[in-house]
Amino acid sequence: MAKSTLVVNCGSSSLKLAVLSEDFEHQAQVLVERLDTDHPSASARIDGKRESVTLEPNSDYADALATVVRLLESKDVLTGDPLVIGHRVVHGGENFSSATVIDEAVIEAITACNDLAPLHNPINLIGIEATRKLYPDVPQVAVFDTAFHQTLPSYAYLYALPRRCYQDWGVRRYGFHGTSHAYMLKQLGERLDKPANALSLISAHLGNGCSITAIEKGQSRDTSMGLTPLEGLVMGTRSGDVDPGLFDFLQHKGLSRDSISRMLNRESGLLGLSGKTNDMRAIVEARDAGSATARDAIDVFCFRLARYIGAMMASLSRIDGLVFTGGIGENSATIREQTVAHLQLLGFTIDQNRNAQNGRQSSGRIDSGNGHAIYVIPTDEESMIAREAVDAAYPDTPKNH
Ligand code: ADP
Repeated sequence: MAKSTLVVNCGSSSLKLAVLSEDFEHQAQVLVERLDTDHPSASARIDGKRESVTLEPNSDYADALATVVRLLESKDVLTGDPLVIGHRVVHGGENFSSATVIDEAVIEAITACNDLAPLHNPINLIGIEATRKLYPDVPQVAVFDTAFHQTLPSYAYLYALPRRCYQDWGVRRYGFHGTSHAYMLKQLGERLDKPANALSLISAHLGNGCSITAIEKGQSRDTSMGLTPLEGLVMGTRSGDVDPGLFDFLQHKGLSRDSISRMLNRESGLLGLSGKTNDMRAIVEARDAGSATARDAIDVFCFRLARYIGAMMASLSRIDGLVFTGGIGENSATIREQTVAHLQLLGFTIDQNRNAQNGRQSSGRIDSGNGHAIYVIPTDEESMIAREAVDAAYPDTPKNH
């Protein structure tokens, strides 16, 4: 019987699992939320149908994984051991530039990056330990959000700080969302029938987290996120770039380090500006109904994004396309239109009809034809993680992707 790949993504208080077939088609997706509370919730979609999942109060990651795996086995989605298990790991520091089969040394190296991603890496490790116990004989592969950006040149990754910050503590720009940006490279290559090393593009991943990457000849050359995923664009609840002098200022106003960190990570971005929600769909509706704060949120979001698209051009010698992806990038014609309106001087213009259809009638193209190509391409980080996991665990098997 054909074997599936299991993809595990442990976030803070949530767990996402996906099962993909040998052809990397989605067979099942499970989302578990509010772990470690007395009312955890889970929803599953198996072969296109919704299934209910019941979790015990205060279930932890290991409990939830075991419950979900039992469900997947009972529905015959997982039969016996999977071929490989791919784990999304947020931070690989400078240790990992590609997906890597997990052994004790790799676990140690991921643990060594915990201080760079204290909200993410320790939880990723819990997921790895739990699945190793469930499937001791199956190869497990770490697929890092940072790996794709290990090609950044030093002028793009060094901060203008005393050298000891980088040398002693690894303070530099790492970049994240690498799996999604790498998937855009692959997708554009398939559409244009070009190998990766002949492609140059700007990839804008706009979801709850947002980042943008300049890819030149198949390599990441600049990206908006930095030491942590807080830098760069305006996001759902993260501020993106602020003046570093803000920290001093807020401390003088009496805010603690923890409350400043919470403000920048959880209370800012679209949520902070709109004063209501981090959900872009609701913000667009509120703006259209006359809300001034919703209008501010959208105006700042689009202007910052346009500025970054301009900045990314500095890393490219030519461009095959500007690509929008993620929940906002794939679905919001108004955000794409308002962003691209700032970029006429740089040779980007949108076709309103194609844009309104999210590019569905035009093979993803939404530009007017009078300048650079602009695309909408749905992301699929899980299939990319599955592909990279299979390649890392079975390097001698011919690729069918
Ligand atoms: P995550 O980063 O958590 O995977 P997604 O990629 O699903 O998030 O993106 C979530 C964002 O996409 C939310 O702000 C949501 O409102 C937005 N979004 C989804 N559909 C639309 C739409 N039709 N119009 C505007 N925003 C949308």
